[in-house]
Amino acid sequence: MAMIPNELTGPRVYVAVDDKKSAKMHLTGGFHKPDRDKAMCGTSIEGKTLVDARDIAPHSEYQDSELWCLRCIGILDFEPLDQKILFSAIKFQPGTYGDLVVIRHLQRPSKLKTHPFRLTNAPPRKDWRIVK
Ligand SMILES: [Zn+2]
Repeated sequence: MAMIPNELTGPRVYVAVDDKKSAKMHLTGGFHKPDRDKAMCGTSIEGKTLVDARDIAPHSEYQDSELWCLRCIGILDFEPLDQKILFSAIKFQPGTYGDLVVIRHLQRPSKLKTHPFRLTNAPPRKDWRIVK
């Protein structure tokens, strides 16, 4: 099923971590790389560990933007808010990702302000992530 981009929620973004921890961390998954075959920037992620962004991006030891592939972080702009928000704490020179991208997403350009966020339909029940 083709996913229709949704401004608020969408498929998970994963972080490709180099086991030697020497290389920059890339992003995959989301709308951009649903098959997770390469990083969003096109770099091979073969042999890297894919971590759910929730388990790595919000943590304090990963706040330095030097640790991240900036091309992947740039493409993350086009992913939905619920995924971008996980990267809010990453610090860049002019401010955090939250300051620069998440707040801007919520404010939206003034000509769009009068329109509601673009949402897809709720998934068919078989696609629900049922917890219990
Ligand atoms: Zn990358």
